[in-house]
Amino acid sequence: PVSETETRTIFDKIIAKEIPSTVVYEDDAVLAFRDISPQAPVHVLVIPKSRDGLTELGKAGKRHEEILGRLLHAAKMVAEKEGILEGFRVVINSGPSACQSVYHLHLHVLGGRQMKWPPG
Ligand code: 5GP
Repeated sequence: PVSETETRTIFDKIIAKEIPSTVVYEDDAVLAFRDISPQAPVHVLVIPKSRDGLTELGKAGKRHEEILGRLLHAAKMVAEKEGILEGFRVVINSGPSACQSVYHLHLHVLGGRQMKWPPG
């Protein structure tokens, strides 16, 4: 099997502070930072600090239940900090057909403008 170190993504470098990011929220398990290419006035990515095989939501297993809950709660904390609790969107792109581009699970927290539904 391919080791996690062999499959490091840009997010591992952000976690290790090897490349800079603007951190919005952080705890022992979760890091949230501003997307480099924001699609809304607020666009924050919420990621697990340890990927633990969670390259995409479609690979989640029973052992990931706790971190998945923590990521969702962190998304709410981000929305609160950013002042968008009145209305915000949380998106997870999982796999190529969903246009996932970084294979380290992440939640997009979007807000600060009127959102459209359904998305494209
Ligand atoms: P995906 O398409 O995989 O769901 O989302 C990946 C997101 O990561 C994109 O919205 C992209 O703009 C963001 N991103 C890619 N590279 C970087 C980076 O180096 N720094 C930050 N802050 N965001 C990044």
